[in-house]
Amino acid sequence: MAMMEGMVRMEKIHVTVWNENLHEKFDQKVAEIYPEGIHGTIAAFLSKECDMEVGTATLEMPEHGLTEEVLNRTDVLIWWGHMGHDKVDDAIVNRVYARIMDGMGLIVLHSGHASKIFRKICGTNSQDLKWRENNEKEILWVVKPGHPIVQGLGEKIVLEHEETYGEHFNIPEPDELIFISWFSGGDVFRSGCCYNRGKGKVFYFKPGHESFPIYHNPEIQKVIVNAVRWAAPAKDLPQIHYGHVPTPPAEE
Ligand code: ZN
Repeated sequence: MAMMEGMVRMEKIHVTVWNENLHEKFDQKVAEIYPEGIHGTIAAFLSKECDMEVGTATLEMPEHGLTEEVLNRTDVLIWWGHMGHDKVDDAIVNRVYARIMDGMGLIVLHSGHASKIFRKICGTNSQDLKWRENNEKEILWVVKPGHPIVQGLGEKIVLEHEETYGEHFNIPEPDELIFISWFSGGDVFRSGCCYNRGKGKVFYFKPGHESFPIYHNPEIQKVIVNAVRWAAPAKDLPQIHYGHVPTPPAEE
């Protein structure tokens, strides 16, 4: 039995990659960068990890592809959205939120900062930030070098061209701040933020503007792979009871 100690989890992590999949349809340049959609590219590199089983879901699918059945078997949900935030049904947002409270991990990418689900998690207007598309260089500096999300990376990730996001970013103080980005235009941005919500772990990761090949970058892929493992729920978490509870009998 001693051999069991220190073994990694034996069940695979079930990942669902959700994408609104709109830019890919309406913008030829984006379709060329992501011929299988942003979700297809992310699912493809995650599928190379032997401990992950990956599915995809998009806005146009019934229930946006996020049925009870799909969510109940999802350990980590990845979210990319931009143009279609308002088209996401509130009932589905509430269903995703409930699963996070119950332990499902969530990774919110790039313009997902303004998604309904991330705004609900933040409780602040996380739409508020500065932005411009000016092909600036971005350097993501690691500010939490002992964290599992930065395992296998150097102390920074350099993206020659990305959309600029700048502070102030109107989010609650992250429970853990993993990356701060510098941009050649002078802005800085909290670009890797961890939150705990209920039993769930949430990671916001800034890179991934649709007109740059960001999700083909091996270091960005590494961060997302690491984040999936970090956000995957531990097994057999305690049942939590909210609301009125009767006085327990006096102990003998
Ligand atoms: Zn963008």
